[in-house]
Amino acid sequence: MFKILRPKVYINSVYNVDLIKLKKIKKIKGIMVDLDNTLVAWGEKEVSPKIIDWVKEAKKIGLKICIVSNTNSKRAAEFAKIFNIPYHSKYFKPFSIAFNNGLKILDTKKSETVVIGDQIFTDVLGGNRLKLLTILVTPIVKKDSIGTFLQRNIEKILISFWLKRGTLKKEIGNWPK
Ligand SMILES: [Mg+2]
Repeated sequence: MFKILRPKVYINSVYNVDLIKLKKIKKIKGIMVDLDNTLVAWGEKEVSPKIIDWVKEAKKIGLKICIVSNTNSKRAAEFAKIFNIPYHSKYFKPFSIAFNNGLKILDTKKSETVVIGDQIFTDVLGGNRLKLLTILVTPIVKKDSIGTFLQRNIEKILISFWLKRGTLKKEIGNWPK
């Protein structure tokens, strides 16, 4: 049930996504990564060194990576500069046009691309619709925009439903097995 909303992998943080395994086992060449509460805490300007290292590692091993975010383009551009990666923020997720633009930036096929984000109704739904690999991460902070309050509550219900049914497992590092 609600398969279109269910991520393929659920993991505690973006920096626990094992990049080498992602590349070698899942044959991934490109990463579309969300910004707020995935790479950076919502509303913050500071980035964790752990996450900067994770992005550097992705580039070092030859993975293409870009930010696809629903934030304003000024904020997306600022962080794209810090991470030194391209970004897309013109069209909103979960609309396919946002992900299709991400694919154009990465120049990868759908089967070679992963979406990583903290929201089911934007990152996971959009990625699943295009048949991309989807990874849901726990939001960096609980603080969020007012508009996502209702969504967050529905997300909690869905996640606990999937966890109870065994259709989703929370991974803490060592992914994928
Ligand atoms: Mg987010």
